[in-house]
Amino acid sequence: MTDDGHADSQESLDPQDWDAMLALAHRMVDDSFAQMRGLRDQPVWRAPPADMATRFAAPVPRQPQAAAAVYEEFRAFIQPYPMGNAHPRFWAWFMGNGTPFAALADFLASAMNSNLGGGNHAAILVERQVVNWVKEMLGFPADAGGLLVSGASMANFVGLAAARHAMAGFDVRSRGMADAPRPMVVYASEEAHGSNQKAMEMLGFGSRYYRRVPVREDYTMDVAALASALAADRAAGLRPVCVIGSAGTINTGAVDDLAALAAFCRREGVWFHVDGAIGAVAVLSAAGKALLAGLELADSIALDLHKWMHMPFEVGCILVRDRDTHRAAFALAADYLESQERGLAASHPWFMEYGLQTSRQFRALKVWMSFKEHGLDRFGRLIQRNMEQARYLAGLVAESPVLELMAPVSLDIVCFRFNPGGVEEAFLDRVNLEIMVRLQEEGIAALSHTILRGRRCLRVAIVNHRSRQEDFDLLVGEVVRYGLAEACGGAGGRARAS
Ligand SMILES: *Cc1c(COP(=O)(O)O)cnc(C)c1O
Repeated sequence: MTDDGHADSQESLDPQDWDAMLALAHRMVDDSFAQMRGLRDQPVWRAPPADMATRFAAPVPRQPQAAAAVYEEFRAFIQPYPMGNAHPRFWAWFMGNGTPFAALADFLASAMNSNLGGGNHAAILVERQVVNWVKEMLGFPADAGGLLVSGASMANFVGLAAARHAMAGFDVRSRGMADAPRPMVVYASEEAHGSNQKAMEMLGFGSRYYRRVPVREDYTMDVAALASALAADRAAGLRPVCVIGSAGTINTGAVDDLAALAAFCRREGVWFHVDGAIGAVAVLSAAGKALLAGLELADSIALDLHKWMHMPFEVGCILVRDRDTHRAAFALAADYLESQERGLAASHPWFMEYGLQTSRQFRALKVWMSFKEHGLDRFGRLIQRNMEQARYLAGLVAESPVLELMAPVSLDIVCFRFNPGGVEEAFLDRVNLEIMVRLQEEGIAALSHTILRGRRCLRVAIVNHRSRQEDFDLLVGEVVRYGLAEACGGAGGRARAS
């Protein structure tokens, strides 16, 4: 059908005017580059106006609109309200910044629009190479299995699925967990990320059999407590099958003693999975490499490339030491997808045999182009710099009479709070939340918060290739200023930021 409702045998989804679309494309690139370039002068975050919700409640369009008009709508109502994670003073949760070249790579990948489920085409070679580079980077065997996935949540799922398949001792894929002679138990520290628990639930282990092992003072897993939990479960007739080590916990960035866990797992005959979403890539820095000793001994490693490697979302990676086990956990023989010796289907094995997805995007391209653009040494230097900035910030906190460091700094996360002394916990709880929200609302800095041993703290995760030392001076100054204003005058005595 044409715009006026008539059948048109020439109709397609291509632009009616290719030159006009190309001109629009150039404008899009210009505008996006201007935005990325001017970030430092922009607020970290601004709330979308309250009336915006109505704009996004309009019914689905049935008739065409000019591409330029649609783009203008993006320019006016979407582009000005980003999450903020590209900004030099965004330190909330644990997110990367992205880069201009990687954003362009995402465009190129979409323009090619290859499907990486499998097949005989160049994109497959690119992903294979990227996965091989990640193995090399982490000191993993060259013949290990691996797959790019949406992020570490999916990587943990795939790694734990491989663990389940390897450890079940019966054909768990056909018979299901209900046929397990004894419940299988998996262990992680109480600081481990929630995606591991979700995977446990989805894979049918049940969160009842997911043991949250206590941590030590430094928030790393207490290996002695792990040993006694495992022994108690065995004595009770359960079957320990897997330990999940954290290479950087989400709260404080603590790195479990991976070498000790690897040795323990080998002794006990259980699978060793590492959730390295935060810290695995820190092997690229000297300080990180020392902390991560033993990572390379894992049976499977989940990591993220859209965090500390700054790829645009989404890209993470799972590596499984034994490629055959990895494949056996997922592969199916489907007649309609049988691969061939020659032609488009000729390429072995297909990526879809290593995970849940059939159709898969070309997320490898931005990684491949960025690794070449910068080289891993530069990524390593920037990771090292973030770790040094974390220590610098912790130093500023230690020097201040009204700030309190709440956890040791391991990788790049600093947990602290405003605490002038002599006030109640409930007051500190409220003031620190207020400081966090004020910093966000004023567009000064984006922090998040967490609760450590029952006490609320501000959490600064320095995953940022754009942050400079003066950004941390500014942060500390503003936290103290807001905090003192709250402490002196409460809500009535708030200082304005500008
Ligand atoms: C972020 C994170 C995850 C989840 O990764 P996604 O990329 O968000 O799916 C898992 N584990 C840890 C420790 C994380 O920090």
